[in-house]
Amino acid sequence: MNDSPAAALSGSAVDGGVADPTAFVPPTVFAAEAIVDLEAIRHNIRTFRAHYPQGKIMAAVKADAFGHGAPASATAALEGGADLLGFARLSEALQLRATGEEAPMFAWLNDVPNFARHARANDIDISVSGLDNLRAVAAENTGVNVHLEVETGLNRGGTVAAEWETLVAEAARFETEGSLSIRGIWSHLSHAGDLDAERTRAQSDRLQQAIQTARAAGLDPEFTHLANSSGVSLIDPSLYNMVRLGAGVYGIDEAGIGLRHAMTLTARVMQVKRAFAGEGVSYSHTYTLERDTTLALIAVGYADGLPWAAAGKAEVWLGGKRRRVAGRISMDQIMVDLGDDPVAEGDTAILFGPGTQGEPTVSEWAAWAGTLEHEIYCGIGARINRRYIN
Ligand SMILES: *Cc1c(COP(=O)(O)O)cnc(C)c1O
Repeated sequence: MNDSPAAALSGSAVDGGVADPTAFVPPTVFAAEAIVDLEAIRHNIRTFRAHYPQGKIMAAVKADAFGHGAPASATAALEGGADLLGFARLSEALQLRATGEEAPMFAWLNDVPNFARHARANDIDISVSGLDNLRAVAAENTGVNVHLEVETGLNRGGTVAAEWETLVAEAARFETEGSLSIRGIWSHLSHAGDLDAERTRAQSDRLQQAIQTARAAGLDPEFTHLANSSGVSLIDPSLYNMVRLGAGVYGIDEAGIGLRHAMTLTARVMQVKRAFAGEGVSYSHTYTLERDTTLALIAVGYADGLPWAAAGKAEVWLGGKRRRVAGRISMDQIMVDLGDDPVAEGDTAILFGPGTQGEPTVSEWAAWAGTLEHEIYCGIGARINRRYIN
């Protein structure tokens, strides 16, 4: 890891034989990388499967698979035993379909014009969240597969109780006419992440009631689904035949079932220098040196998704130990306090990983910054190279 990016650039250009010293050649050695362990994703799906043997597993690869990269993560999740892929926005599903991914797909926000036509043409199931939405789908007259979303307590998407009877009656009529097909009925939990069994059960009861009303109106949905990652162990598995897993696929383990973090964020030491007692480090000198020390400049910052709010608490793994991040996190760089230990320019720091070597985890970063692991994963920036292993 001692190749400088400049050497990588000129090296590749010279290898090509045409020595245009001004030509830009993309680097092969990156200042910062997110290494994604695809076997961790497969392991996580298999772990859920052990808890949920009887139904379908939908792996949510929304938001570029929580920052892990949707195409590769989707493949790994399917290899691990997922049955279909879930997306927040239809546009995300269309984008992955365009790469040649053939797995069944479901998206719950219809964000493109003529969405029913696009969904039907690309064999993507969509969601309907209320009467206006249902009528818009029916008006396109495509026969698209629809999952009806029920409001059961989250107060986000979903059909409110007062509209439900009308909605299912109209849906049954549209289905008979052939303008759409009701494939599923579903809702989303508000307190599963807090492992609140009581509120979760109340939501499940409301959904069961809504499903009964729908059946009485003549609908016969193939799928009913409620649980997210943290909900799987809270909900009676016999009640539904699908779960929608996001966070847990990537290793965020809210229910403590033995999931593994898939992403390791690394960055290179770009400079090592001595600094002296009494000096301050980084913007506004929030970190003052009590004794002479060695500082390492690491090429990663808040533009790459490191939370600025973690400064003062954050640590990284470098040279076989945890080290404090010295002072504020910059847009593109952080400084790390090495004491008198020998660390060289070109060495690799681990910002977070599965924790197996002693490195911090994304959960620690989330605690340091007062945020969620989810937000950190989703915020890992486009400048960070994703490298896939296993
Ligand atoms: C993100 C999301 C999921 C996945 O939830 P996790 O808690 O990440 O497992 C499931 N369903 C919906 C509607 C979502 O928005």
